Amino acid sequence: MTVLNIIEAIDRWAMKEANRPVYVEANRTYTYGELKQESDAVAAYLQDNFERAQPVVVYGELEFEMLACFLGASKSGHPYIPIEAHTPKERIEMILEVAKPAVIFAIKEWPNIKTSAEIVSINQLREICEQPIQSVPLIPVTGAETYYTIFTSGTTGVPKGVQISHDNLLSFVNWELRDFGITEGMRFLSQAPYSFDLSVMDLYPALTSGGSLTPLRKEIINDFKQLFTVLPTLEIEVWVSTPSFMDICLMEPTFDEEHVENLKIFLFCGEELSKATAQKLLDRFPKARIFNTYGPTEATVAISRIEVTQELLDAYNRIPIGYVKADTRVYIMDKDQTIPNGEVGEIVIVGPSVSKGYLHNPEKTSQAFFELDDQRAYRTGDAGKLVEDLLIYEGRIDFQVKLHGYRIELEDIDHHLASVSYVKQAAVVPKYQNHKVQQLVAYVVSYPHNFEKEFQLSKAIKEELAGSVMDYMIPQKFIYVEQLPLTPNGKIDRKGLMNEVNKP
Ligand code: AMP
Repeated sequence: MTVLNIIEAIDRWAMKEANRPVYVEANRTYTYGELKQESDAVAAYLQDNFERAQPVVVYGELEFEMLACFLGASKSGHPYIPIEAHTPKERIEMILEVAKPAVIFAIKEWPNIKTSAEIVSINQLREICEQPIQSVPLIPVTGAETYYTIFTSGTTGVPKGVQISHDNLLSFVNWELRDFGITEGMRFLSQAPYSFDLSVMDLYPALTSGGSLTPLRKEIINDFKQLFTVLPTLEIEVWVSTPSFMDICLMEPTFDEEHVENLKIFLFCGEELSKATAQKLLDRFPKARIFNTYGPTEATVAISRIEVTQELLDAYNRIPIGYVKADTRVYIMDKDQTIPNGEVGEIVIVGPSVSKGYLHNPEKTSQAFFELDDQRAYRTGDAGKLVEDLLIYEGRIDFQVKLHGYRIELEDIDHHLASVSYVKQAAVVPKYQNHKVQQLVAYVVSYPHNFEKEFQLSKAIKEELAGSVMDYMIPQKFIYVEQLPLTPNGKIDRKGLMNEVNKP
């Protein structure tokens, strides 16, 4: 099946079979018919009240209404921006400042943030969905128009909004539907927050192929006892998560083929899939297909894949990130020069899933994106090499890290840490184990303070920092120093600090 239009492909299921399940919660199943009806109502409301293409924020977690709002926005020609509930206030303010949305659908209670955007609460949304719809023809987002914008960590402390067009999304969705053994009506796990583009790996391939989503809510994920009770009962066929989340699930011994017998396909993205994790999973689910995929948000979720088999694990010390999808090319570059096969350089992605750039940020856009052979190209900041046409990952060339799959610019944390009242200067570095970040360590020069013990100071710093950065960006360890080491040209010597925390 080839999808030509995302919205038409999803609505086709509602028209064919309105009772087909689309969203399966523990005590309620929503259907394609309900999704169509609610998203049509949202679309009609947006079309009546706002100018086409004005951004729409959708704030919440993994609720069904989030989906209805995403599709409602797309159906009426609006790009949507997912913001996860519990995002710190200051970060939401920065996103609103950049994105200037016209309207915010607050599926979870909207925090007390002033905005000129219209706020639609969940109760108002229910009223909108109950209104009879005048049948005005809707004109959905198409072509190069932005379908969604996902905000990601920025080095200056201000998040960057990656704009993904309908064409970008089509290129990704058609690849996933073609190359991973997905068939009509499969049941997908939905675990990643919608503000993380990993969620797109389950959301649109599931919905365009008449499949369903089974959400695993944050309350369950964060409570291992609940998680391990729910895991063996999950009736899913396609698993989508970061390798880190899989590591947690593998702690439960009954998470195996015998207990979760329908699981057929595992898709991983967002961070390195270690051999240890892959081996354990292969042992537990010997009949399933396991894929390692790679890509940045800027190139729409993922652009390369490799199937993990025993032969592959036996042949490589580090799992390759795979073969690039058919419509895309990867060059290994050193600044603007392509370098020969087999040598390590920066991975540059060229093709139809590469974003037009960062919302209202021409400077950052021109630093990372350019045109090559009339196509959009993106400098990933990832180091890698091509061996024949197999892509091998070699880490980062800058100070971006992944912690549990979440993307973090270390400078983003430094910036916010330096605004904490107790902190004069700070630099955050990652502590690694087997190529994976285990911990973020903050080196801090503090102002004079009255805390008796260092841990009290660390607690106070963490509390203040939580007001401006995501919880996964808060360093686990603090080391207090008189001054930070500098490089010969006067910059903070982060590499030196990294060597220090990672000393064997
Ligand atoms: P994000 O934009 O959050 O998807 O993060 C993209 C970054 O995650 C990439 O640029 C890589 O550094 C890293 N990444 C994604 N997938 C993989 C993978 N399979 N193996 C290693 N690193 C990965």
